[in-house]
Amino acid sequence: MNPGDSLLQMSFPSVMVPTRESVAAFDRPGERLLIATDGVYLEVVRPWIRVVRRIARYDVPTAIPYGRVEAVTQQLCGPVPPQLIAEFRSMARTGHPIEVMAWIVWNALTGAFRIVQLKAKSQGAGHIEGYQRPDLADGEHLIVDCHSHGAYGAYFSPTDDKDDAFDVKFAFVLGDCGHERLSTAFRLCAKGIFEKSALPKSWRGVLDAEVV
Ligand SMILES: [Zn+2]
Repeated sequence: MNPGDSLLQMSFPSVMVPTRESVAAFDRPGERLLIATDGVYLEVVRPWIRVVRRIARYDVPTAIPYGRVEAVTQQLCGPVPPQLIAEFRSMARTGHPIEVMAWIVWNALTGAFRIVQLKAKSQGAGHIEGYQRPDLADGEHLIVDCHSHGAYGAYFSPTDDKDDAFDVKFAFVLGDCGHERLSTAFRLCAKGIFEKSALPKSWRGVLDAEVV
């Protein structure tokens, strides 16, 4: 095969899922396809997370003699400290009605989490128009991409979908920032996979704790 495609296939391989044993986890950061009996799965590995999800099913009921794969979410960095969610809430409240953005990052070398507020190229009460990605230290990875919606409710807009299309991260939105109880939206983003879910309980706890 030509060198270009050889390189491409080495960096993004496909695996025929065995029937008599489970597939070993991908041993390095990157992505690969797992061809299983019931469809095609994408495995995404980063130092802080491993995600496996089905991304395609077969159009015809032909027999594929491969094994099964379970959907997996392994958060290798451990839970995000709820204190950082409380810090982002403070940023959102202080900034209101202006939208604010922040990254919660995790350092694979030290295990430490921190939150860093982002500078927008231009920002207003509408939506943020582009922002500068912060400088990260060696070993630091984006874990939670946070932004606020000012006076508007929390949801994922078409702009958010576009911004989140290629990342591997959690996305977190705080809305109704002038109200007593802020609205929230939360999802996992992994290379085009968007999966909305309930907030982690400890996050809900610190957000509700403000309302007394
Ligand atoms: Zn948004």
